[in-house]
Amino acid sequence: MNDGSKPLNFIEHIIEEDLAKGFPKEDLRFRFPPEPNGYLHIGHASSICLNFGLGLRYGAPVNLRFDDTNPAKEEQEYVDAIKKDVAWLGFEWNHECFASDYFQKLYDWAVTLIKNGKAYVDSQSSEAMAVQKGTPTAPGIASPYRERSVQENLDLFERMKKGEFKEGEHVLRAKIDMGSSNMLMRDPIMYRILHKAHHRTNTDWCIYPMYDWTHGESDYLEQVSHSFCTLEFAMHRELYDWFLDQVYDTEKTRPKQREFARRNLSHTIVSKRKLLRLVEEGVVTGWDDPRMPTISGLRRRGYTPESIRNFADTIGIAKRENLIDVSLLEFHVREHLNKIVPRVMGVLDPIKVVITNYPEGQEEWLEIENNPEDPESGSRQLPFSREIYIEKADFKEEANKKFFRLKLGGEVRLKAGYIIKAESCTKDTDGNITEIQCTYDPKSKSGSGTEESLRKVKGTLHWVSVQHALAAEVRLYDRLFTDESPDTHKDKDFLEFINPNSLEVITGYVEPSLKESKIEDRFQFQRIGYFNIDKDSTPEKLIFNRTVGLRDSWAKIEEKK
Ligand code: ATP
Ligand code: MG
Repeated sequence: MNDGSKPLNFIEHIIEEDLAKGFPKEDLRFRFPPEPNGYLHIGHASSICLNFGLGLRYGAPVNLRFDDTNPAKEEQEYVDAIKKDVAWLGFEWNHECFASDYFQKLYDWAVTLIKNGKAYVDSQSSEAMAVQKGTPTAPGIASPYRERSVQENLDLFERMKKGEFKEGEHVLRAKIDMGSSNMLMRDPIMYRILHKAHHRTNTDWCIYPMYDWTHGESDYLEQVSHSFCTLEFAMHRELYDWFLDQVYDTEKTRPKQREFARRNLSHTIVSKRKLLRLVEEGVVTGWDDPRMPTISGLRRRGYTPESIRNFADTIGIAKRENLIDVSLLEFHVREHLNKIVPRVMGVLDPIKVVITNYPEGQEEWLEIENNPEDPESGSRQLPFSREIYIEKADFKEEANKKFFRLKLGGEVRLKAGYIIKAESCTKDTDGNITEIQCTYDPKSKSGSGTEESLRKVKGTLHWVSVQHALAAEVRLYDRLFTDESPDTHKDKDFLEFINPNSLEVITGYVEPSLKESKIEDRFQFQRIGYFNIDKDSTPEKLIFNRTVGLRDSWAKIEEKK
């Protein structure tokens, strides 16, 4: 949200101009209008942050309006998921509204339009109507039913409502201008017959209003002052205004539609319809699969509401479409998690280290800070013993001077513990290292105050005690698509670009303090990345999702600019 520290975006300029022209501030009212035909995605987050952000900035109410005019695609499950996601993002709506609550009002208005000679029932096939629509350069042809009498139109429309006709037999069209240069103005359809139960109105209706007829009138009924939508609706604005003209009462606020650019994120898709295919075809495990760009997928992956809001605020609102690199989103979650989550030990690709001069059977508990970024976060105890795991990649038999990890004859510090020195290693018949033998310096314990404890060695490694560690399932995610913009290829379906390695499941070893962790708890695994507990996790078997790695590739891209 713009708290006044940033320059105004063009949407805010529009509002400021209206206020300057005398529009009363207390009449400002906004809405976020999802169609409940899928789960919200990261693109919607931009629209949510825009509309609710304006509400906060101007102290104006914001409605959550479900644009539920297509019973074939909409479900209560989606309504519930959308409410959960908007609330989770941290926003409070004024009224929960449904376009379907306006079905009767819209019907009555449609009757008025018929009476005023502004709408008629067309009884042609959709193919015939499509042919008559013309092209952008050639005007359309009037339907043979265009001049039906008001009486006949009223009669047919009422019978459409009563369910006397089959789907496709009749439609109600606005009578505007078949010669308009804007094709949308060439007698657009207002109602179609659909013999389908609606998730809220059930079988009360078998005619359903079209988007254009519904949206502006819903804005008007709710007295929304500024109705912001994405650019593909720019051409619809003329129709939005025409429909408002038919019902507008000058005493009331007249809503104003303005458009902003859709936000696209790299290596994914932001379209409910296409995301539904991923779910239906089993490419992912559900709408909340942690690889999905849905709000619920990001939540399950470990994202915080703050990180998503900060991302949306950083990219802001634009007049033209462009592609936002997903690493910017990752940058924001890393930045937020760095401040708030505890650091813990987890080894994902273990190799055993035996500390030969540490007494067998002995254990000790080392003090370790929970989060150096947060002094209030306190500390905890970490068990240490003769056998530990470190990452395979942290050991090499021989290495050059730039390798600050463990090598034969070299020393490293174990995080929060002792300095160890690699003396030898054991290999299997294929030459793979199976165990490393080290000695430790008993006086070098971190924080013990001795001269040796202050001794600096170049590398510090994370580790866990073999005997105390918990085995856990760790789910490592990568981008869902190998292509930057998978749904922009004319000759290829986006499913052809699925990354076959978008999920890798491994067993890792984590420190025992994680035993009591709860679903959604978040951590930084030292030197590896950010992880959270997945909803599939049980006390017997912990399951972690990797939210994002530690490496900050976005900052590097920015630095190069
Ligand atoms: P989808 O194709 O994913 O279903 P939509 O635009 O049809 O998207 P709606 O439920 O109609 O989805 O969207 C609700 C609001 O969110 C609309 O105002 C729409 O313009 C906005 N919105 C949807 N996708 C994006 C996006 N990628 N970036 C910004 N705003 C978006
Ligand atoms: Mg839509």
